[in-house]
Amino acid sequence: MSQKYKIIAIAGATCSGKTTLAQRLRARLRHCSVLHQDDYYKEPSEIPSFNDTTDKWDDPIAIQWSKLSGHVARISSQPYLESCPVCQEMKGEESRPTEQLLHYVIVEGTMVLYSREMLDLFDLSFFLTLDYETSKARRSARTYDHDTVKFFDGHVWPMYLEMESKVSSYSTSVTLLNGRRSLEDLEEEISRAVADKR
Ligand SMILES: [Zn+2]
Repeated sequence: MSQKYKIIAIAGATCSGKTTLAQRLRARLRHCSVLHQDDYYKEPSEIPSFNDTTDKWDDPIAIQWSKLSGHVARISSQPYLESCPVCQEMKGEESRPTEQLLHYVIVEGTMVLYSREMLDLFDLSFFLTLDYETSKARRSARTYDHDTVKFFDGHVWPMYLEMESKVSSYSTSVTLLNGRRSLEDLEEEISRAVADKR
């Protein structure tokens, strides 16, 4: 039985559309799992604080990376029938050789490309860029409860810039996409790249 999973990273700026894009791609690719970086935060007591008031949510130190990469490894080593709800539904439809279908795991979050080790997990990596004004405006429209202007300017934005320069230093491995483009447009470009990668 030949089983293949393509592992896709969608990283980038806060409020750049990562989560929505991941959901749209899951619907489009169907045989697809999505893991969210935000589901892998450490306990708040283990996360250093910013200005003694809020936790540094945008620092890679806040995330349980080995747990996240372990989940990616676990999904991609499982038979489709165990890991994929769509294949489970198709079970018994003899005309469909599900074991030959390509499957996907999308991992999305601001920092999922923060290290070489993480980058190496992925067959395809995308990083959504955003300019300061747009990111800040979209973020304040969402009103995170721990958000303040100081937190954005002093933590969120500098961490984004650090991620962006790190990702750029990986040279050609990561596709940078402008997060100001429409979601339809971004979805099309990522889908084409995924299809080309077959
Ligand atoms: Zn499936």
